[in-house]
Amino acid sequence: MKENKKSRRILAIFAHPDDETFLAGGTLAKYAAAGWDVFLLCATRGEAGKRGEYGRLTREQFALLRKEELEAACRALGIHRPVFLECADKGLARDCWNSATEEIVHAIRRIRPDVVVTFGPDGISGHPDHVALSQIVTAGFWGAGMSTYLTGKQGKAAPFRPSHLYYVLRSLSVLECCKPSSPQKARTLTTVVDIRGFGERKLEAMRAHRSQKHMQFSDPALIEKMLTAPENFHRAFPIWHGPGLEADLFGDVDSESSNQVHRKHNIDPVAEPQQMNNGVTGWPSSSSQRPTPALVISQPTAPEEGTPHK
Ligand SMILES: [Zn+2]
Repeated sequence: MKENKKSRRILAIFAHPDDETFLAGGTLAKYAAAGWDVFLLCATRGEAGKRGEYGRLTREQFALLRKEELEAACRALGIHRPVFLECADKGLARDCWNSATEEIVHAIRRIRPDVVVTFGPDGISGHPDHVALSQIVTAGFWGAGMSTYLTGKQGKAAPFRPSHLYYVLRSLSVLECCKPSSPQKARTLTTVVDIRGFGERKLEAMRAHRSQKHMQFSDPALIEKMLTAPENFHRAFPIWHGPGLEADLFGDVDSESSNQVHRKHNIDPVAEPQQMNNGVTGWPSSSSQRPTPALVISQPTAPEEGTPHK
């Protein structure tokens, strides 16, 4: 069994506060607990979302509330403090395409993540920001590794291409909430992450998004399902050829054989996330000094016929 010589890194990139928790919260918490450095870029502050009981807040006040909610959610998940791209909510494609791509290229080169996680082309719900971000992140993923892609950012970093790109797919908690509305067909399920043991963190993060009613579940049966339901992904790069499904976002690179996705590390309690500046330039330059992590990830079986992952 190979030992990790350095802390692995995940960079998750989503459009709005709450996307990260809803779609991949258990996975992000699991890898953070295993000693990975888990970073989050959030394209907008979600200021155009439904305000509900917060209707009296101005848009700026609501944006600040949602920023604080996301920071609380990240603490619950045990991941680094989020960095915002400061794009306008519902304006990602219209106003922010080029600048967001450049920021993402710069972030990838600075952080040098092993794994990037974002939306697939369907955008899960078909939300225009989700769909746009999928294309932006995919372009940034490839652009970051190209020496010909130049950014105007200060402190330029060398080109770097992460080894893995994943698109989130619908999972049980998403199915209970949102109806798909995108004409894009979701990508094939390739990777199922067992989040048992980390559902409580996911639930706590959901509760942290207190302005979002659809995150405030009270049905005990539904909560129980969400605490245990696996999170689903499509491995966009490198293409997964199987057999079966992956159970790990980094399985076949750091394991003894291409189909062996079991890894063992030393379990470490989640450390307090590092505090970072509120800007991409504030990313830490090196990983936290946590001990080598321990995580046992077992190979899942393929879902039964009709298992809902759309
Ligand atoms: Zn969203």
